[in-house]
Amino acid sequence: MSDFAGGPIPGALSWTPDLSAADRETVWHPYAPMPSVVEPFPVVGADGVRIRLADGRELVDGMASWWSAIHGYRNPVLDQAVRDQLDTMAHVMFGGLTHAPGVLLARRLAAMAPEGIEHVFFADSGSVSVEVAIKMCLQYQRSQGHSGRTRLLTVRGGYHGDTFGAMAVTDPAGSMHQLWADVLPGHVFADRPPAVCTEEYADHLRRLAAEHADTLAAVIVEPVVQGAGGMLFYDPEVLRVLRAVCDEHGLLLVFDEIATGFGRTGELFAAAHAGVSPDIMTVGKALTGGYLTLAAALCTARVAHGISSGEAPVLMHGPTFMANPLACAVAYASTGLLLDGAWRENVAGIAKLLTEHLEPARELPGVADVRVLGAIGVVEMAEPTDMRTATKAAMDLGVWIRPFGKLLYVMPPYITPEEDVVRIAEALVAAARVSGRP
Ligand SMILES: *Cc1c(COP(=O)(O)O)cnc(C)c1O
Repeated sequence: MSDFAGGPIPGALSWTPDLSAADRETVWHPYAPMPSVVEPFPVVGADGVRIRLADGRELVDGMASWWSAIHGYRNPVLDQAVRDQLDTMAHVMFGGLTHAPGVLLARRLAAMAPEGIEHVFFADSGSVSVEVAIKMCLQYQRSQGHSGRTRLLTVRGGYHGDTFGAMAVTDPAGSMHQLWADVLPGHVFADRPPAVCTEEYADHLRRLAAEHADTLAAVIVEPVVQGAGGMLFYDPEVLRVLRAVCDEHGLLLVFDEIATGFGRTGELFAAAHAGVSPDIMTVGKALTGGYLTLAAALCTARVAHGISSGEAPVLMHGPTFMANPLACAVAYASTGLLLDGAWRENVAGIAKLLTEHLEPARELPGVADVRVLGAIGVVEMAEPTDMRTATKAAMDLGVWIRPFGKLLYVMPPYITPEEDVVRIAEALVAAARVSGRP
């Protein structure tokens, strides 16, 4: 019998109107002041691709909860995976102990990852996995006798997370991290990767790498899609150039696939658009299908061996909740759902519908660009939008979006039915219409 038998069994915590005041007075929301100026909408449930608000409205989710809920909410397979794991154990430490969900997930990730990636270090969020990846790079170079190689080369427009190491490789200009420019380590920034890689741009990368080779440990980029830094898509050729540059100068190549991983761009990992393998890859966001926080830094045998035969000779990192079994179990189930390959058709279908139904936005005043890649749709305005007005226009059509700056964008769950994808696209066009009004 369980030690806990007979204790109270709490029901689901439900929303009551007084919680709005408590939220305002106590809770700090992302990228917001305290107290908040824009009241968040209370959510009382989410099912499939719909989010249900406390006032009874139902919104089709255009955001997949920031790229993560690729299989939708209350997915029966994922729900069951969490329940089953809960009946075994919610958590144990990963130091000196191991468990099936962690091992099985690691083995599957290594199998899914680009050629050459063999080892998996679990972390508890995307930003932390980027910290781990950077640490791997520096420690690898140190093990090779290059302790002076402590900087990274990256490109403008990138975003790698909100912790300090990750902020340092995020474009400081115009980003959320501008504030910290003078307290972050100085890395080397190349120009934004272009939509078409010219010989001139390739030379720019080659020159920068050659110029700083003595102090560079690695190159880090989001492959093909720059997410929070501008929702820009760039020429995969850039990745081939970077691979060659890294090989020439003994640098490691890191692909941050936290946003792009698990099918979002139409390939399982965006690296496949270029046919290039990185030395280190980070994953997060959709890893657990949006259920629990989990991320990982994956690497090749060369990186792992370099670090493990170096002066330390261990990777000096170990988050308390590393490889949390609940998170690993649901990630195993979520990646399992991807294995049958149906995601590829779903993502291609979403791409086709977004392309078709975002087209009218091109004609609207104030619209600078409309672009689609995989299940990502973007309407870029010439000027920053008013988030509240744009959000309301979409909500009036029953769709949840979260614009920022000049960007109106969506990345719906892969399971979104056709009519809901169309509705999402129409809502984005409506948001662009109100945003472009003088
Ligand atoms: C979201 C994101 C991160 C940070 O992940 P968190 O889980 O929010 O810490 C890092 N890199 C990229 C490319 C991202 O999109």
